[in-house]
Amino acid sequence: MPENSESLVHVCVIGSGPAGYYAAETLAKEPHVRVDVIDKLPTPYGLIRGGVAPDHQSIKGVYRRYEKTALGDTVRFVGNIEVGKDITLAELREIYDAVVLATGAPKDRELGIPGDDKKGVVGSAAFVGWYNSHPEFADLNPDLNVMSVAVIGNGNVAVDVVRVLAKTPEEMAESDLALYAAKEIQKSPITDIWMLGRRGSLEAKFTPKEMGELNELTNCVAVTAPEDLPTLSDEELAELKPATKKNMGHLYEVAKNKPGENKKTLHIKFYAMPVEILGDDTVSGIRLEKTIVDDSGKCIGTGETFDIDCQMVVPCIGYRSIAIEGAEFNEDWGLYVNDEGVIEDGLYVTGWARRGPTGTIGTNRTDAQEVAAKVLENEKGSNKPGRAGLDEVIAARNLQVVTFNDWKKIEAAEEAAATGAQPRVKFHKVEDMLKATKS
Ligand code: NAP
Repeated sequence: MPENSESLVHVCVIGSGPAGYYAAETLAKEPHVRVDVIDKLPTPYGLIRGGVAPDHQSIKGVYRRYEKTALGDTVRFVGNIEVGKDITLAELREIYDAVVLATGAPKDRELGIPGDDKKGVVGSAAFVGWYNSHPEFADLNPDLNVMSVAVIGNGNVAVDVVRVLAKTPEEMAESDLALYAAKEIQKSPITDIWMLGRRGSLEAKFTPKEMGELNELTNCVAVTAPEDLPTLSDEELAELKPATKKNMGHLYEVAKNKPGENKKTLHIKFYAMPVEILGDDTVSGIRLEKTIVDDSGKCIGTGETFDIDCQMVVPCIGYRSIAIEGAEFNEDWGLYVNDEGVIEDGLYVTGWARRGPTGTIGTNRTDAQEVAAKVLENEKGSNKPGRAGLDEVIAARNLQVVTFNDWKKIEAAEEAAATGAQPRVKFHKVEDMLKATKS
């Protein structure tokens, strides 16, 4: 079948993270569909590479499934192309029958309290990107010459940040933690880490495996106030969701620990809502308001406040998508306006950019499959040029794109740089990644 035959459907997926590759996987099952997965970075896999914690390599292993899709005959990876800078969304829509936004939610939600712009407040998107060698955050240079850090939020990102700050080099030996971050973290005199939840233990969003890991750290003891945990009868425990029940099991164990039993102390504090970041230009503490949680699960401030000394604050309170010109975006929600993944004819959205930053990697699979099914149902092909059209733009603008083969060279160089049990030493500069493609 000629590549530009009208019976082909040309799809461009923007973003090569889980949602992008799950969408491509479903689309590629149809022999008449050609898929270009484009990414602004020279490296694929989005959040798997730049978001999942460096010591959670088993979770990162899902990339092998995406690689299978990427190596298929009808799917192409085109890295190092930024939509909005190198090419516009309008241009892509002229070239492809359908464009699917799978751009995730790369921006921190704002805390929105006095002092949240002080030096020492570092959002989780930036901090996680920094320790994961993300080129946009590699120069973040957070000041870790601090004794006490407040991590805001009771989600898995907060747990990740706490763990990475608390673990020893030995505990990180099998990780791909950025070497510059490992150096700063090990040099840091941190003795106290606070994980602050504005609601209670029953409402916490972290998952049991991740919660349990906080009570198994070599150099850090996790503590929590027993009076902040509910006393539940066996019947009440049995009625909890399985994950909440397991979380509670871990937390009741944590409540038996004593601060000072180890070099570092993780204080897991519930019913503590941040109201102000204290200090002059730089963080010196955080003011919190005690809360109660009403029957609907909402937290309500009691008016009583207390302060915690800390020199760094890492809000881990969720993410937002970033608008791309040409796709309707709701600034309040931080999401593209869509009806079950359809923004308008020929323009789709999947993953966190569609429904917000929630759920596991697997949630994005279902989401992307649904959206890909809609693309297949709606798009019947036209005389649009597809990948040949993109190649013309690339040539005309002299863009240096990265193919999947090029990526495999980057990957090989990163693996070759690893020592001991490290899986890889990641490049953190785009120029070094591009250099590796020339080898
Ligand atoms: P999340 O699970 O939504 O947790 C956000 C936390 O921030 C919640 O505890 C929330 O409290 C709190 N929060 C929000 N606004 C706040 C404010 N203004 N002040 C104080 N606290 C505030 O989000 P996430 O941790 O960023 O994780 C995103 C998704 O990725 C989740 O689905 C998560 O499970 C997933 N993830 C998974 C893993 C893993 O599987 N290992 C690792 C990382 C991330 P409320 O509950 O009161 O709103």
